[in-house]
Amino acid sequence: MLRDVKIGPTVIVIFGASGDLTRRKIIPAIYNLFIDGWLPETFSIVGVARTASTDEAFCHQLREGVDTFSRRGKAKEEEWSKFASAIKYMAADYNDRQTYLSLLEDLDAGWRQSANKIFYLATPPTLFTVIVEQLGQLKAFRGEKNYRIVIEKPFGKDLESARALNQSLTEVFDEAQIYRIDHYLGKETVQNILAFRFANAMWEPIWNRSYIDHVQITVAEKVGVGRRGGYYEGAGALRDMVQNHLLQVMCLVAMEPPTSFQADEIRNKRVDVLSAIRPIEKDEVEKFAVRGQYDRGVVDDQPVPAYREEENVAEDSGKETFVAMKLYIDNWRWQGVPFYLRTGKHLPGRVSEISLQFRPVPHHPFSDSVTPANRLAIQIEPKEGIMLRTQAKEPGLGMKIKPVEMHYTYQEVFKSASPEAYETLLLDVVRGDPSLFMRNDQVEMAWSVLGSVLEIWENSIPVDFPNYAPGEWGPKGAEDLITRDGRSWLVPACLESNRKDGICP
Ligand code: NDP
Repeated sequence: MLRDVKIGPTVIVIFGASGDLTRRKIIPAIYNLFIDGWLPETFSIVGVARTASTDEAFCHQLREGVDTFSRRGKAKEEEWSKFASAIKYMAADYNDRQTYLSLLEDLDAGWRQSANKIFYLATPPTLFTVIVEQLGQLKAFRGEKNYRIVIEKPFGKDLESARALNQSLTEVFDEAQIYRIDHYLGKETVQNILAFRFANAMWEPIWNRSYIDHVQITVAEKVGVGRRGGYYEGAGALRDMVQNHLLQVMCLVAMEPPTSFQADEIRNKRVDVLSAIRPIEKDEVEKFAVRGQYDRGVVDDQPVPAYREEENVAEDSGKETFVAMKLYIDNWRWQGVPFYLRTGKHLPGRVSEISLQFRPVPHHPFSDSVTPANRLAIQIEPKEGIMLRTQAKEPGLGMKIKPVEMHYTYQEVFKSASPEAYETLLLDVVRGDPSLFMRNDQVEMAWSVLGSVLEIWENSIPVDFPNYAPGEWGPKGAEDLITRDGRSWLVPACLESNRKDGICP
């Protein structure tokens, strides 16, 4: 990873700049990089969108976004004024060649000629190809390392559309210039999986099928779809969460040790995992994947609507708001070890956690105690940390075994707030380091892993929807998926009741 690269002058062009993502994530992240001194002295931001606006009105809107969403709270007047002086707005029609002519002319004027130029596509995905093709008709970008393009998720809606988008992109840019965002990869705790595994000698010998019984990855949200019903109707939990975040986290847990932290080395190792995932045959989908949709119910004493009653959602929608899956990785390390994945909306809490459940000891010498197996929980959010459950002798006469936990949280140990994932990722784009971004083969492989499930689910309307109440861990089928194997879902460490040790609220 390129941590010490000196950054030259930089222009960031944001398409879709009037939107939610720009206001909530992109600008607060760039602003924090600016106040922490990571941005070069000479930089500018050009916001492009259809809405008629002025530089002043646009900046005002962005400041509101920073005041509301930045991890640091409200912007300070002097710092904001300096930052805002580098921002311009351009009202534009994405289908008009003139838009791109003016933009490129502007970028080539003055100091910008030799600057790094980053095109950030924060528009609805339907515009990705339009913008790329329009840019490509005006200039040869390939091989021009100072031009980079950032693509937001969703990257396609299936293998075919992802291939088509990759094709459009690679006709105009080299793969090394393309940054496909999966913001999960920018999270500190997700990056820490690599440090935890490969900077400590003790894990590697036991990080395999001989010692690990199974792995669980849970990414749960407490909220429903809210105002994003229109988007969600086209996506669903499988596309929105599993295809990208959960599979990428699984890759980091399962990958082989890299020989270096070069971008392609890490990405090769992640692709190796995806390509070793055992394909799910169409007639086996029911055995390996379960979908759910939330009903109306009560959350924190407040009534909440069913998914089918949300804004912009069809009243007979068959879209899943919950997915549970079982995957196997067919290689030496993981043969026979199931990876259970689950994600959904209106689950009991907001929590992302990876649990590695170790095998039980081969022999119990403590005659009157059952010795539960060790468990390692990597807590991604809301509290970032690691918890290892081991067994200890309870004080007193006799030999009584009791589970105890060793844990640390980032907050306790490092005492400083973690940067937002978007700060890490945007800085990497500016530096030209693609390690934490998805390569074309990774994205396509991830779609391919889910191909049969997508196809079967798309073509069969579920008869039991809605099938779980807000606040439950999905439908009964999710429970059956794992109990059939003689296992059970682990309650994420931070949601376990009566927890008093402060790991999680
Ligand atoms: P928005 O729906 O807020 O749209 C962004 C902007 O695009 C709008 O301000 C609008 O600007 C323009 N726009 C909307 N519809 C159209 C249209 N039909 N044709 C042309 N322009 C249109 O999107 P977000 O900001 O929420 O998301 C942007 C991208 O980022 C999407 O691809 C999304 O999937 C992705 N993303 C978003 C996340 C989020 O939290 N918001 C999280 C992860 C990814 P104007 O009308 O002024 O042109």
